[in-house]
Amino acid sequence: MKRIIVILLSLMPLLLSAKGDKDTRLVIITIDGLRWQEVFGGAEKNLIDKDQGVRDVEQCRKTYWRSTPEERREALMPFTWGTVAKQGILIGNRNVNSMMQLANKTNISYPGYCEMMTGMVDEAITSNDPVNNPHRNVLEAANEDARYKGKVVMYGSWKSTRFAIHNEQAGIPASVSYEPAVAKKPSPRLKLAERMLEGMPHYWRSEHFDAFTYAFALETLLADHPKVMWISFGDCDEWAHARKYDLYLDAANGTDAFIRDIYETLEGDKFYRGKTVYLVTCDHGRGFGNEWTSHGSGTKGSEATWLMLFGKGIYPKGETSECGSFFTQQVAATIASILGIDFTPDNGVKLQPIGM
Ligand SMILES: [Zn+2]
Repeated sequence: MKRIIVILLSLMPLLLSAKGDKDTRLVIITIDGLRWQEVFGGAEKNLIDKDQGVRDVEQCRKTYWRSTPEERREALMPFTWGTVAKQGILIGNRNVNSMMQLANKTNISYPGYCEMMTGMVDEAITSNDPVNNPHRNVLEAANEDARYKGKVVMYGSWKSTRFAIHNEQAGIPASVSYEPAVAKKPSPRLKLAERMLEGMPHYWRSEHFDAFTYAFALETLLADHPKVMWISFGDCDEWAHARKYDLYLDAANGTDAFIRDIYETLEGDKFYRGKTVYLVTCDHGRGFGNEWTSHGSGTKGSEATWLMLFGKGIYPKGETSECGSFFTQQVAATIASILGIDFTPDNGVKLQPIGM
C-alpha cells in the first residue's frame, strides 16, 4: 500500500490548473552555468579557498558557509529556498536522485539554449558563435498565437543568447550584450539604466553585467506588459570561467535577489498578479571539484542541469526526489504546455512537458 501511495504521489501533476488559458503570463529565467551543486547544496567547502580566486576567505565563509547543505543553500539563495521551495517545484538535486540533464553532447551554452528553446538537438550546432539557430523555437510559436502575438520579449546578458530564438525571422524583440533596451514605452529609470550601461567599462566583450539585464527586463515588464519574457543571466558563468569562486557565489546570490524582486514586483502589478508562471533553469552544468570552472564535452558532470517552476497553477511540491530523469530539451514542451500552445519541434518529435 505504501508503495502505491508513493507511486501516485510521484505521478501527481505539477501544474494544477488553468494552464494555457488566455490570462497566462510566463517569465523564463536562465542562469548561465550555475551548478546544481550550489543550487541544492550551497557553497562547496573546498572551493572557498585562495586557490579558487577567493579574495577574503574568512569573509566568504562567514557569508556562505554553514554546517548543513540546507542552511548553506538558504544562505546562498534565500528566495529560492524560502519561497520557491514552498510554492513550487525544484528538479535536479542529484543527491536525492532528482535528475535533469542536457540531451546535446557539447555541454556548452549556445547549443544548450537552442536545445531548450527548440525542443530538440541539432548535432551540427557545436559552437557558441552568434549565428541564427535554423530551427523553429517555442517562443516563435507563442509569438504566432493570437494570445501572445507582439507580446513576447527577450533580454540577455550574453550576445549569443538571442540567436537561440533567431529573433530576426521570429520577430521577437530582443536586447543583449550592451544593446539598448527594447521597451516600447521606456521609463525614466530605464533610460537611466541605459546611460549607465553605456558609460561603464565594458568588462566582458560580448556580455554585460546581469544587473542591467535585470533592470531592462523589469522596467520593460512594467512599462509594456509583455505576456512572455525570457530573461537570460550570465554573470555566474563568467566568474566561474575566471576561477573567482567568491564572485561566482555573489552572482548566484545576486541573481536569486533579482528573481525575488521580479517576482514580488510582478505579483504587485495587476496585469501579472496571480496569472504568471515562473520557470528558472540553466544551459549546462560544470565539472566537479577543481574542475568547477569548466564545462564542455570533456568535462564530466557538466551535462547536469536543473529547473524550478513556481507561480500560477504550479503544484507546491518542493524539492523533488526519485522523480525520473528529465532533459533540457523538454523545456520547450513545458513552455508550450504552460502557454497552451501547440508546438512540434523541427525533428517532428513531441516530448513530454516536464512533470506534467
Ligand atoms: Zn553557459
